Amino acid sequence: MLHLVPALASETDTTELPRCKGCNAEIRPHRTTEADFPGTSASWGNNQCRLCDYEACGKDPADRFISVERVGYLSSIRAGIESDRQRRGIPAEGSLAGRIPITEFLAQIS
Ligand SMILES: [Zn+2]
Repeated sequence: MLHLVPALASETDTTELPRCKGCNAEIRPHRTTEADFPGTSASWGNNQCRLCDYEACGKDPADRFISVERVGYLSSIRAGIESDRQRRGIPAEGSLAGRIPITEFLAQIS
């Protein structure tokens, strides 16, 4: 799968970006930043920006804290994922199988 690189993303016409179903803010593509698409919001799932997603779930958008219990739960999920990766022989730093560095990709299309 080809991912959008920032140099290409900034050239993309932003008038066709999807909009948040809650506040109508433009939602930038995944794996891009606000620097790539100034004035846009990150996708937070369900066709919403973070603020609208938080409000839809009854959460305070200004509350950026996580409960200690949730940290433990998420840590156990992460440990399970890492254990599975080790069992499949994937090195801790990840695998480059089937991938090339972005710099190599850019050199190929220049
Ligand atoms: Zn929104």
